[in-house]
Amino acid sequence: MVNKARAIHQQLIDWRRDFHMHPELGFQETRTAAKVAGILEQLGYRVQRGVGRTGVIGDLGNGNPLVAIRADMDALPLQETNDVPYISQNVGVMHACGHDGHMAMALGAAALLSTEKMTGAVRFLFQPSEEVADEEGVSGAPRMIQDGAMEGVDLVIALHVEPTTPAGAIRIVSGPASGGVDSWFGEIIGKGGHGAHPHHSIDPFYISAHVIMALNGIVSRRLDPFDPAVVSVGSINGGFTENVIPERVKITGTLRFKEKRVQEQIHKEIRRAFEISRTLGGDYVLKFEIGASPMINSPMASELITQVAIDLLGKQNVLPWKEELGAEDFGSFLELAPGAMFALGTGSDKFQCLLHNPDFDMDEGCLLVGAAILAESAIRFLRTNRS
Ligand SMILES: [Zn+2]
Ligand SMILES: [Zn+2]
Repeated sequence: MVNKARAIHQQLIDWRRDFHMHPELGFQETRTAAKVAGILEQLGYRVQRGVGRTGVIGDLGNGNPLVAIRADMDALPLQETNDVPYISQNVGVMHACGHDGHMAMALGAAALLSTEKMTGAVRFLFQPSEEVADEEGVSGAPRMIQDGAMEGVDLVIALHVEPTTPAGAIRIVSGPASGGVDSWFGEIIGKGGHGAHPHHSIDPFYISAHVIMALNGIVSRRLDPFDPAVVSVGSINGGFTENVIPERVKITGTLRFKEKRVQEQIHKEIRRAFEISRTLGGDYVLKFEIGASPMINSPMASELITQVAIDLLGKQNVLPWKEELGAEDFGSFLELAPGAMFALGTGSDKFQCLLHNPDFDMDEGCLLVGAAILAESAIRFLRTNRS
């Protein structure tokens, strides 16, 4: 499969650079989706447009088993600083998370699979908006799922580029592979008054200082030290001028976790931190917005991808997963079918910049590796799970 992928390497680079030059933000991927849909149609796929708002589905073959391969399409609100011929043409928008590469590799896998003899079927899920939620708090993966994208799927796989790993290597793990994320929005309510007469008011700033202390104690004092988690304050807003104590202060933040049990405990502890407002004579409102679930790779899918990668790249290029609590909405697909995401190395001496930076770029040698692993994993699953 690597040789077949090598034969289309220039095509993969061209696709990736075209997406890179024309980045679009979450749920605005209209040009991108049209291009993806056009290529899939040329390759002989049955295409559905407008899935999950701006997503695209491409199906090939019939019946079961059905393997889904997912790529995300959105870019980030960043001004690119690279000096390359394929620099972003859209001011203030950039593919700084490598989703341009994800799309090129998934299309590459679609091309490779279109010439294979197979039993069963493959489905490509080109999802919108992995990075941000829409006005209802829903990101691209769950939006695609609402439109039926996962119906009948027996295995779902994906990759994410990883610049601190050398191009030509991958990382994979069985079990939890990313953090779950929720947001919280709190408001501390006191009683406004003259800055010179604090005893006639209930100062929400004074209360918020205690609440923030308690929030920062959750991970260090309340959680089991072997449960990885984060609670961060992201904004605090309130007040008008220097000599008026306002009635309200707003505090918002994020939380990260690996297990549902820990998620539930953190919610409870955040509520308890806000309860301090009442002890100190004020009140509060607090609401949570549930974000992406933790991404849990299934043992079967991780084993499959590990074996494929060992065969295609050699054992020395299949590395252990790097633990962190970044979030990834691919976890929503994994709640509905077994599957896994692997990290694809894109780094080299020249390409070291981290994701979400204005000078992120990738060693394009990685593109044929990613396409080959996706295609080979799908084919092997179909061959060994014939119904
Ligand atoms: Zn990202
Ligand atoms: Zn990403």
